[in-house]
Amino acid sequence: MVAEPVPPPTLAELRKQPHVSYSAIRSYLLCPMKFYHSYAAKTEPSHRPLALVLGGAIHEALAAYYAHLQGTGTKIDEAELLDVFRTRIDMELNAPIPIKLDDDSDGTDMIDQGVNVLRMFWERADCPTVLAVEQAFAVPLYDPQSGEVFAAPMIGAMDLIVQGPQRPLVVEHKTSSKKYATWQLELETQPSVYKYAAQQIGIGDVDLMYQLLIKSKTPSMQHCRIERTDAHIKEMMMTFATIIRAVDAGIFYRNRSWACSDCQYRYRCDEA
Ligand code: SF4
Repeated sequence: MVAEPVPPPTLAELRKQPHVSYSAIRSYLLCPMKFYHSYAAKTEPSHRPLALVLGGAIHEALAAYYAHLQGTGTKIDEAELLDVFRTRIDMELNAPIPIKLDDDSDGTDMIDQGVNVLRMFWERADCPTVLAVEQAFAVPLYDPQSGEVFAAPMIGAMDLIVQGPQRPLVVEHKTSSKKYATWQLELETQPSVYKYAAQQIGIGDVDLMYQLLIKSKTPSMQHCRIERTDAHIKEMMMTFATIIRAVDAGIFYRNRSWACSDCQYRYRCDEA
């Protein structure tokens, strides 16, 4: 009897084991105290930021678009795409922790913004050969200087992998209020994570691209190709290793910045 192939673990399954994620590292870089509340102390957040909720719902609709394309070779209906988005937003609006909406808003403007962005996307999106949607990974983290391999792996998921002209192309979906500048793309760590993860899980060398959906009055798209080398991966790994050690040593401090204005844990910072 031929054994059935075992499907690879999903991100939800990988999250059940001790792990490090890119989001956690990014949170620490932004503010170690915010990381502490979110990942170590699991402090009750005061709200959920609007941009995160909207971005998550758009992200889910994009995953549905590419999964449908992979499964059928055709575009999902526009109405079906918008249904995925609206269903997720309905769920978010009914969740116990409130979304921080603008004054006098009932969430309608958030829904309109997402619908406009997705309509634009549906009209302009092409139909590449989809290799994977939400490709989960768990890969080792190590200190490039000492060679120490950390106990907890780095886990994550690549939003989309399509067939590129020369090799697989890893695509990251982003929503933003404005276009990314070249200097911003050069500083991004996430593409280095994907380059490394693709090597580790056997996909091999990949190209990298951000697909940005711009939530301006007239929505638009920006496609940004990103180059990453072994030097970028080494630097990413050194940053991760330093943060893992800082967390283990209990180093958490407030890093006051623009991010405080929408921070879910500000009520704790301000009362201390
Ligand atoms: S309010 Fe500011 S300093 Fe405090 S946890 Fe949030 S981001 Fe950090």
